Amino acid sequence: MVVSGPSGAGKSSVVAGLARHAAFHFSVSMTTRPARAGEEDGVDYHFVSRAEFLAARDAGELLEWAEYSSHLYGTPRAPVERRLAAGSDVVLDVELLGAEQVKAAYPEARLVFIAPPSPAVLEARLRGRGDTGDEQIARRLAVAASQIEEGRERFDHFVVNDDLGRAIAEVAGILAAPQSPGNTA
Ligand code: ADP
Ligand code: 5GP
Repeated sequence: MVVSGPSGAGKSSVVAGLARHAAFHFSVSMTTRPARAGEEDGVDYHFVSRAEFLAARDAGELLEWAEYSSHLYGTPRAPVERRLAAGSDVVLDVELLGAEQVKAAYPEARLVFIAPPSPAVLEARLRGRGDTGDEQIARRLAVAASQIEEGRERFDHFVVNDDLGRAIAEVAGILAAPQSPGNTA
């Protein structure tokens, strides 16, 4: 299952809450962006240099990758393949281009778009998180509107993160729903 949506919509919060409802493997991405306060290397992300990222990408070690807000993000391929082969559910938190690449590799993957209730709420959440500068907030808000349109059209599920508990329950229902055999993405 792939969770995507604008920065600040609540993807990390939803995935964290989902762990109380279901057993799954969370795919830890590689990124060149610096760690935020409270983020742990190897848990939230694998924090790497640009050179390390490009070496992994060129060696074919990434299932998908994209540039977002001047930083590189990618999904290490081996852990995802290993968990799927073992029959586990795998949850990825990636931006929209990454979600499309995952769908191309795993057509049965469920794409879940997490949307904010409104642009004003999205801005308030980004500011409230307190770890994103004004310029980054403006850039992230500028792309959010077109992302939401794309999410509505292209994703299998569109979840409005109004009340966090309600949104988590909705996503847990999507993860638990039966799917076609042969793929557990
Ligand atoms: P994302 O992973 O999509 O960038 P986060 O999960 O980091 O978003 O959430 C952004 C901010 O909004 C965080 O401070 C989080 O605590 C808060 N938040 C998330 N969901 C809700 C919600 N339903 N109601 C209120 N605040 C929320
Ligand atoms: P943040 O910097 O706020 O943690 O994440 C910024 C964006 O990068 C989010 O939309 C998040 O979903 C996305 N992202 C995180 N990891 C990956 C990844 O491995 N691949 C892709 N394509 N996007 C990612």
